[in-house]
Amino acid sequence: MQQEYGILYVVATPIGNLGDISERARRILAEVDCIAAEDTRETKRLLAHLGISTPLLAYHEHNERAAAERLLETLAEGRSIALVSDAGTPLISDPGYPLVSAARARGIRVVPVPGPSALICALSASGLPSDRFLFLGFPPRTETQRRAWFDGVKDEPGTLILYESPKRAVATLADLEAVLGDGRRLVLARELTKRFETFLTGSPSALRERLRDDPEQQLGELVMLIEGRREAASADSAEALRVLAILAEALPLAQAAALTARITGGRKNALYRLGLEQGLGR
Ligand code: SAM
Repeated sequence: MQQEYGILYVVATPIGNLGDISERARRILAEVDCIAAEDTRETKRLLAHLGISTPLLAYHEHNERAAAERLLETLAEGRSIALVSDAGTPLISDPGYPLVSAARARGIRVVPVPGPSALICALSASGLPSDRFLFLGFPPRTETQRRAWFDGVKDEPGTLILYESPKRAVATLADLEAVLGDGRRLVLARELTKRFETFLTGSPSALRERLRDDPEQQLGELVMLIEGRREAASADSAEALRVLAILAEALPLAQAAALTARITGGRKNALYRLGLEQGLGR
């Protein structure tokens, strides 16, 4: 029964640099019976670059459920489909979830063909902790909703990752600062894999100023990464910082952090980072 179905491939495509298409993605896109694309014009450009002429079908958020049904029928006829989005990995802040979940529910084989995704690309080069992270997608558009949204993740210890339009970044940074404070390290990863790729690091207020002063930074595509809640903050952070500041007057920061950890019960590495951010290192 299962063999009668075609295969649904979930294919990642480049997020800016066409050189990032994988050999396997190229082969699958050429071999499948049809490609379900978020924006057929966008995908046509990629296919033209690759010299591929596989037929295209529109699959975007406005027709997701109806299109999913049609694609499931195509799969039921034994034909194979590659699902792609405009850029990056389908389903990651992009259409595809109803199709993939329905295909799995019907026992259809779903095969991922991995490749670029802006969030992983940004995290991998951000310099923020990557052992634990929370991807949040796009923030809500209104200030009230955005603040409530940030409030819901303020205690998350992992790095927070979100997608945002650079045009809205100044407003989002203001709400972020209002809810999470100005003490966290942030990274703005813009135009990844493209000519004007930029990584900016700083506090919410410093980055807001930087964006205001340089309108170029408000163009293109952006991933925002926010340091998670610091472990030192869970022990009495004000007290830990006070002890650290006193000890750092007389000792190298690493030693001051180690002693502060013993005195306050905080974590040595987190205290060391905190000390660096507060300019206590010497
Ligand atoms: N599915 C895609 C992925 O796997 O990354 C994301 C699609 S989502 C609709 C588009 C958002 O991803 C952009 O608004 C931006 O936040 C982020 N993004 C995509 N390409 C990017 C790039 N080259 N540089 C920075 N951010 C990018």
